[in-house]
Amino acid sequence: MAPSTQTLPALVWEGGLSVAVRDVPAPEPTEGFALLDVAYTGLCGTDLHICAGEHSRAQPGIVIGHELVGTLAEDAGDLRAGQAVFANPMMHCGTCDACSRGLVHVCERLRSVGIDRPGAACARVLVPAGGLYPLPAGLALVEAALVEPLAVCVRALRRSGCAAGERVHVVGGGPIGCLLALLARDAVAAPGSGSGSGAVTLSEPSATRRALADGLGITTVDPERPAPTADVVFDATGVPTVAASLGRWARAQARVVVVGAYPPVPSPVDLLRVMFAELSLVGTRIYTREDITAAIELVASGRLDLGRLVSEIVPLDEGVRAIEALRAGSALKLLVAP
Ligand SMILES: [Zn+2]
Ligand SMILES: [Zn+2]
Repeated sequence: MAPSTQTLPALVWEGGLSVAVRDVPAPEPTEGFALLDVAYTGLCGTDLHICAGEHSRAQPGIVIGHELVGTLAEDAGDLRAGQAVFANPMMHCGTCDACSRGLVHVCERLRSVGIDRPGAACARVLVPAGGLYPLPAGLALVEAALVEPLAVCVRALRRSGCAAGERVHVVGGGPIGCLLALLARDAVAAPGSGSGSGAVTLSEPSATRRALADGLGITTVDPERPAPTADVVFDATGVPTVAASLGRWARAQARVVVVGAYPPVPSPVDLLRVMFAELSLVGTRIYTREDITAAIELVASGRLDLGRLVSEIVPLDEGVRAIEALRAGSALKLLVAP
């Protein structure tokens, strides 16, 4: 069979700091994958790492976009064409030690749509057929576009063991930091007491981002100023200089949860402080089926009013501008609508 000559425009990392919208081969039906018409793809810090050549696996020419919702372009398993779905972009190897213990989300050879194979900043994308989650009828796809980052936060909160009555501090006011602060507020609220907003703080050096978080009702602090210490500290930055100072937010016996992705080189951590204050360092990585299902239920409940986190919905041909806005730190969540 002759190769298809059909192409589609897509947002592509070209190497270095260069990003462009250019035509790529249209995805063809492939065994083990489902063909999706993309409604929205969210851009995040991982995309910025890719588009700066800082991601260890992404290769120039990759179509970015791993946070996606859309509708099935053809039947997939029990699901019919036209069904709105969230698609887990991750692919595990099935044979490593983690996979053999059922921990597929921390597979030693985990790969992802939008990093290792063409992503969703394109009208059509192939997604792993085993990772489809039908969305409830009537759920706004703009809000469903936040299921992926929300699932990251659901897992982080689960890993933290955060309980009612505890104090929480979030370091970093990007979309993940803000989502964590909003989720943690429910987790620390004593049953029947309503909001736990006073017990959750978020530090962020950028005044612009602090103002965005304030607008969501989050209690923000300037990291240059002293602040109360917490039982649970979430690091939603991935910034090496932050790693060294995480202990300052932690009370004795606090859990420090690393949510942000760090560069693939060791970052300095104050281990004497970990030892002296009996801190626990906890890692958390993406999400399990359970976390995704919980995130979809949360979005469908409307409790978090997630649409507020979306700064702008950008058409694909303005994708380069969206990346620049993210680089400038002037936006919370940006969605591309291919
Ligand atoms: Zn992401
Ligand atoms: Zn594996």
